[in-house]
Amino acid sequence: MIVRRIALNGWRNYDFETIEFSPGINVIRGQNAQGKTNLLEAVYMLAVGRSFRSRFDRELVGFGFSSAEVLADVEAHGREQTVRIVLSPGRRKQITVNSVKKTASELAGTITAVLFCPEDLAIVREGAAVRRRLMDNAIGQLRPGYAAALTEYNRLLEQKAAILRDYRDKPSLLYTLDDFSERLCRLSARLIRYRASFVERLDGCAAPIHREFSGGADSLKLEYRTVSTVENPFASERDIYYAVCEHQEAHRKAELESGQCLTGAHRDDMEIEINGKSARTFASQGQKRTAALSIKLGEREIHLQETDEYPVLLLDDVLSELDARRQEFVLNRIGGGQTLITCCEDGGITARTGGRVITIEAGKAAR
Ligand code: ATP
Ligand code: MG
Repeated sequence: MIVRRIALNGWRNYDFETIEFSPGINVIRGQNAQGKTNLLEAVYMLAVGRSFRSRFDRELVGFGFSSAEVLADVEAHGREQTVRIVLSPGRRKQITVNSVKKTASELAGTITAVLFCPEDLAIVREGAAVRRRLMDNAIGQLRPGYAAALTEYNRLLEQKAAILRDYRDKPSLLYTLDDFSERLCRLSARLIRYRASFVERLDGCAAPIHREFSGGADSLKLEYRTVSTVENPFASERDIYYAVCEHQEAHRKAELESGQCLTGAHRDDMEIEINGKSARTFASQGQKRTAALSIKLGEREIHLQETDEYPVLLLDDVLSELDARRQEFVLNRIGGGQTLITCCEDGGITARTGGRVITIEAGKAAR
């Protein structure tokens, strides 16, 4: 998948700008605060329909503009398509592909992207929520049915949480509690199967990358963790459902007492181990970064296996914190598909990769 050209109008610090990309490596260079990350954010928007660093679309609209537009010519499976996204505060986001209206989840089939940015260190360092988001984003791009099930799950979970929070004041709410719990068990079973097979594949793809990345010194292991009564997360949806229900029944009283939803896929995690030890607890900063990047590069391989094309790889500020050998590994590894990689100092990257250089200055690409 390739983004040929992008036009940004009123997007962040880009007033009106058109930028052409090469189908291989593109080095996005410039001083701090010129718009390098903003450009990657726009490409990510084309793939996923939202930003990776702002929760509110209005923050993406350039100061002094009433709306933001991202327009791009993309190519997937030999087909040229035009994707257009318009954000106007107070109105619904407009997404079209070849002038046909789409929802954000329908964008997944058009162009896919894998992003790595400095905040991704959180995948290894932080709590389970970050790793669930990683699973959800990745599987959501690969399996449209997953995104739908997850949306439904979150909706029901919110309602169940409200019941558990308010039932003491309104006891009649309790009539519907078991129904919500049952539906959540059903959806949990579906999410668990998707996640278990995704993590197994990700482990298979990321571990060899990580081994090479660390010069053969470290071995990475990813393991899916879910509801404790589910012994086999690869079992049939029905069997998983029964196992989740068993956990639910055992925790019904505790849920009422604590006012919290204690059972279900919303508490899942993906454990990351390096050399058999928890990476979160024991890994060095550099080891955490290497593990997080290997996981993202592994995700890129899964996309390739699934769709026969590499997704667009977006690397924001990855090189600055890596030692020379690891930098070399990254630069050697990113060939194959289209890559946009930002940096402040070129440091010879362009010469080493033969990529195209795009210099960004105050929201303009220098010509
Ligand atoms: P760094 O090297 O520090 O990471 P960068 O080139 O990646 O820098 P960006 O994060 O892309 O920089 O941001 C560039 C500028 O865009 C910042 O100065 C920021 O203030 C500005 N900016 C952010 N949002 C908007 C907006 N909605 N309208 C106008 N400018 C914005
Ligand atoms: Mg930046």
